[in-house]
Amino acid sequence: MQCVWQASLMPFCRSVCRARNVWKLLSSHINPPHVSQLPLLAPLKPRYLHHCNSNCVLQPSVEQIIVSPRRLFTRGPVSAGMELQDVVSVLKAFAPTHLAAEWDNVGLLVKPSGEHFVQTMLLTIDLTETVLEEALRVQAQMVLAYHPPIFHPLKTLSGHTWKERLIVRSLENRLAIYSPHTSYDALAGGLTDWLAQAFGESTVSVLHQSSPSALTSCGHYHLSTTLHGKDAMNASVDLQSITGDTPKVIQMRRDDADNTTDVILSMNVTEQVLLQVLQCLSKYGSHARTEINTTTMVSLPNTGMGRLCQFKEPMSIKDAVQRVKEHLGLPLVRLALGTQHVEESTIQSVALCAGSGGSVLKGVKADMYLTGEMSHHEVLDATAVGTSVVLCDHSNTERGFLPHLRNILVERLQQKVKIVVSVEDKDPLKIL
Ligand SMILES: [Zn+2]
Repeated sequence: MQCVWQASLMPFCRSVCRARNVWKLLSSHINPPHVSQLPLLAPLKPRYLHHCNSNCVLQPSVEQIIVSPRRLFTRGPVSAGMELQDVVSVLKAFAPTHLAAEWDNVGLLVKPSGEHFVQTMLLTIDLTETVLEEALRVQAQMVLAYHPPIFHPLKTLSGHTWKERLIVRSLENRLAIYSPHTSYDALAGGLTDWLAQAFGESTVSVLHQSSPSALTSCGHYHLSTTLHGKDAMNASVDLQSITGDTPKVIQMRRDDADNTTDVILSMNVTEQVLLQVLQCLSKYGSHARTEINTTTMVSLPNTGMGRLCQFKEPMSIKDAVQRVKEHLGLPLVRLALGTQHVEESTIQSVALCAGSGGSVLKGVKADMYLTGEMSHHEVLDATAVGTSVVLCDHSNTERGFLPHLRNILVERLQQKVKIVVSVEDKDPLKIL
């Protein structure tokens, strides 16, 4: 807890020194004189604290603190934290990256050098420069940005474009960036299924099922290797740096003959890095005995792009639109009525896709399409065959998933990582 107070009191006290009314606002949280109980604060005291009220500190039980002169946050106790590689393993176990579309760029996109400990993670749809500032303000060590901040290859990191500045500043501030994007779209119980909940009780099916060939396109092998106990830790770190995954320890076996312990590590490896992995293991000499098996991956049920909702009872277009507004928290959306439709017409099905749904929804038979954005001509193609279209702007169909995701990740990360949903992240478009 001490680190939080130390980092937070600096901007806070600068503000206080200039505005004593702010000081009064918080004075109920501040009691003298326990500086000695929080030794990390002691070096700050002469410079920042004595102007305000000598020998004052925030008590550890206080939950509201100021982390910048302009913003007030409610914060609980500091999280225990987890190593970045363990957080990434949990994220990949929740939504395997091979579920993502082939064209996508998902996974750990920015990794600070060396070991990296994550206590606070910020969730956002888009990592803009404003959201990056927020990540620094809440003292995050990691950002989960649904849309990949690196998509097209960067040729320089000079800071001339906002994308370049994002990466440079993230590395300078030791901020890891993970992007799940279409792996969350495809996932059963992921973002698209959350969007489908707008229509309450309905039968939901996947529009484009993830195929086994897509899942195996990266060529998976299962590798298990037996190592001398003293080599296991180093080998695990080496393998993690090559594959991005932490090997599982599946067995520790004591060898009474030479009084040593053997460790069996196992992991899935793609074809692209298999040779590199074997070269790495060869460093560990005759102790490394490795078995490689090819794995067959079957498509996961209810996994893929887009969903078709068949209603149990028909509903009017007007009611369907109202449900969308309520689910997404939007006052306004755009509606294109299909030929033959009026707002009171009843419908029985909606095909939906978060974000930009033109290609996923193309040609799908449904009474209504729901997505973030479609081109003018895609909308005309839909309405011409009698399908009404609801457009909400791209990221408005995605952002509401973040609080739901937060609850999932809090549990999966065993409450060791504090997870904050961005308040700065928003769709750039606004309907006036
Ligand atoms: Zn999107």
